[in-house]
Amino acid sequence: MRYRFAVLLSLLLWLPPTQAVELPDIGDSSESYLSLAEENRIGEAFMRNLRGALPIIYDPEVESYITALGERLTTHSNSQQHFKFFVINDSAINAFAGPGGHIGINSGLFMTTEDESELASVVAHEIAHVTQRHLARAFEAAKKSSIPTAAAIIAAIILASQGSDLGGAAIATTLASSTQKRINFTRQNEKEADRLGMALLASSHFDPQGMPTFFKRLYRRNKGYDNQNIEYLRTHPLTLSRVSDTRNRAAQYPTPDSHDQTNYLLIKTKLQVLSSHDYTEIIAYFKDRLEKNPAQQPNTARYGYALSLAKAGKFQLAMQQMGVLIKEKPEQANYQVAAANIAYAAGDFARAVTICEESLKIFPHHHALTVLYSMTLIKQGEAKKGSALLYEHIRRYPSSPQLYKLLAQGEHQNNNLTASHEALAEYYYLMGQLHSGVEQLDIALKSIQASDSSAQARIKYRQEQMEKELGEFK
Ligand SMILES: [Zn+2]
Repeated sequence: MRYRFAVLLSLLLWLPPTQAVELPDIGDSSESYLSLAEENRIGEAFMRNLRGALPIIYDPEVESYITALGERLTTHSNSQQHFKFFVINDSAINAFAGPGGHIGINSGLFMTTEDESELASVVAHEIAHVTQRHLARAFEAAKKSSIPTAAAIIAAIILASQGSDLGGAAIATTLASSTQKRINFTRQNEKEADRLGMALLASSHFDPQGMPTFFKRLYRRNKGYDNQNIEYLRTHPLTLSRVSDTRNRAAQYPTPDSHDQTNYLLIKTKLQVLSSHDYTEIIAYFKDRLEKNPAQQPNTARYGYALSLAKAGKFQLAMQQMGVLIKEKPEQANYQVAAANIAYAAGDFARAVTICEESLKIFPHHHALTVLYSMTLIKQGEAKKGSALLYEHIRRYPSSPQLYKLLAQGEHQNNNLTASHEALAEYYYLMGQLHSGVEQLDIALKSIQASDSSAQARIKYRQEQMEKELGEFK
């Protein structure tokens, strides 16, 4: 097995960069590793643990962006794994790959990148950890424990590596310490992930130079400090030879044509605003940048300025700035989303609805616009329409807790209490609060008429599923 793997890897290096990358599928058939199906079940439970413990960013624009970036990379891997990408509101520079293809990027890392290919290089590296099943291989032990326990262990370890106190609780201390050694990514794993990650970058038409450039920045930043200064480097040890290895490798690939980075730059700006706590400071920062470079394209300074003004409740001024941006580039969906958001926050629901309706004609099913549109409809007393929209949208985003929370509000307004509590149960379930999920289904059961046997059966079935998972925790 090892030999075959090595051969595949070396073959891989000779592949022309434009071809799809054949990622060696290792371990899946081997008994000592988790099967993909098992890993996926752990992955789902793992994600619920994380949602309950980490400040994951549910902003639909951020969600869509990181998903699209990740998918652009994964379409070039022949992996059977379904990946999920998310951003965490944490200033520590870090990224990690959890079980079941769950890849988390801290906003701190995102904001440290200066080019989309740099960000893509980190995501590609994490994807390679997953396709090479580094985590699954390390988790033979997980096979012996129940799925929720395994998921909790992995979550605890990742939380601990994030420097989070939350990971320090209960399970983490006893079980995790023995398992910790197993998942510490070895240098060999890092090399492998760099190599395959770079091949993914190249085949997805990102600049492979993004990887050495970003590594070099991290390396420089880390210098002069404790080696543990950057979280990411604790789990992904960075040596000078690793930097030069990636630099040499990148040189073997042709430089792709430069591509439009507008979306990346706008999302990065949005994250800057989202993660800032000082309105006055962030407003002043963007205002200053705008004054120094008023014609910059894309105008991230003006966009950041508008978002910061809105965050501080200065809606009229914010809308003025958005007006300028929309006039310049009406087809930029981010601008329409920002304008609709500001209108909503200012209580001008009619305007928010108009912007959403007009924009959804151009960008059908757009995630952020759809969420905002249904939110506004519910607020405006058109909860029936809003809920219908959400039911449809949930089919596209089945694991987005925020959609269920919104749906619960909509159905509550519709006086459809059963559906409202069912939606709330799914929200709690996805947030890792299984007790509350079961409780909501109890309330849902009480709200239905005894004659409605199909609803009763449906709710009871779902409740049994949740209770079963809950039982596995004990
Ligand atoms: Zn790594």
